Amino acid sequence: MINAGLDVVRINFSHGNSADQRQRVKLLRQIAAECGRDIGVMGDLQGPKIRVKRFSGGSTQLAKGAQFFIDSALGDMDGDNEGVGVAYEDLHRDLKVGNTLLLNDGQITLTVESIEGTRIFTTVVNGGVLSDHKGINLKGGGLSAPALTDKDREDVILAAELNVDFLAVSFVKNADDVHEARKLLRDAGGRGLIVAKIERTEAIECIDEIIVAADVIMVARGDLGVEMGYAELTGMQKQIIRQTRRRNKVVITATQMMESMIHNPIPTRAEVSDVANAVMDGTDAVMLSAETAIGQYPVAVIAAMSDVCRGAEKHALTRTRTSHRMDDKFEAVDEAIAMAVMYTANHLAVKAIIALTESGSTTLWMSRIRSDIPIYAFTPHEATNRRVTLYRGVYPVLFTIEHTRDQALYGDVFSTLLSKNLVEVGDLVIFTQGDLTGISGSTNSMRIIEVIASD
Ligand code: PGA
Ligand code: MN
Repeated sequence: MINAGLDVVRINFSHGNSADQRQRVKLLRQIAAECGRDIGVMGDLQGPKIRVKRFSGGSTQLAKGAQFFIDSALGDMDGDNEGVGVAYEDLHRDLKVGNTLLLNDGQITLTVESIEGTRIFTTVVNGGVLSDHKGINLKGGGLSAPALTDKDREDVILAAELNVDFLAVSFVKNADDVHEARKLLRDAGGRGLIVAKIERTEAIECIDEIIVAADVIMVARGDLGVEMGYAELTGMQKQIIRQTRRRNKVVITATQMMESMIHNPIPTRAEVSDVANAVMDGTDAVMLSAETAIGQYPVAVIAAMSDVCRGAEKHALTRTRTSHRMDDKFEAVDEAIAMAVMYTANHLAVKAIIALTESGSTTLWMSRIRSDIPIYAFTPHEATNRRVTLYRGVYPVLFTIEHTRDQALYGDVFSTLLSKNLVEVGDLVIFTQGDLTGISGSTNSMRIIEVIASD
């Protein structure tokens, strides 16, 4: 999977215990090292996903027009064709008569007829098979469960121990959820970036504050599509991607991107278009879920997705120059340098951009501008290397600065680039650095230089 094009692995805390997660991360790090690649690790908190309890027979068949109740007081294995338990104790308080409940990713629809105590009586609008632990969403949103459950709080500590590069927070409602997750992670000693998963209607209402609070945004199309309805989802995806990039943040597009490849060796044309469109919208990353977690073709699906991304990136429409932050004032010298670099790179025949960077933030700013010129993050820090795996068009290169005198430093940079076949002698490249190398946030110069052979 790494050789087929994987850059970041998501560890879903919804599945498995802490020993499983430790084992997965350990195995991944070992294999990544064998492959000589930097692979980011994202820990994904389960969040308050509301699920039905279990059925005595494992499942039930719900027919259109039938009566069915949901009751948090019902025992774990006591579901049958009349009703089922639910793990969320406040569900009956959050609902009103007339609400629509969506079960099993929206495949089953129930209308709330009456509520008596903890028991919610419904009529089946769209039937189907309902089995153990399937998810429940409220159409239009409005469930009051907090974003961070007790299990999530424990998993944040585990995430810190596992030194994850990204911590994803599920069912974020507002910016405070993001701040709280970051504080919990920092208090536990974790340094990872915070990913806000946009999958509730409430999050859409304050999306800009969430983007500002988070480091990374995930368009979590699975739950979001169920809550807001799929008809509006595509427009919402495009809007969130645009808004996130404009705020100099990173964005992931997720869920059912190549769903048919769970069982088939090639994607459908619709899936190919979906992935390519996300790339053309400007997403930094595309994510696979069941396709690689339980699918039959985990390697083929990554290879196919990687092919589609490359194909879409080559298209002239993807490379259209944007007026990114053209009318804004820059807050930092390093951002100004990053913008000057990209303006130049898009108007001069340069082959590569090389940024000597501590935290990777210069390369993040650069990558917000559309371009087909690779940006190499030269950094001595492995954590920075793993972080930039998520930034579109940015490639990590582990590099220790041994010489600070210009000619000697360029010699080291060129020989690193040449040894990896990333440039050729005679190519023009743009090089950025700070004169206080070793200090984060100090990039203050750009140079345009021709690659010369190193001795
Ligand atoms: P999940 O999040 O896979 O953790 O549910 C993504 C989504 O809802 O799309
Ligand atoms: Mn989700």
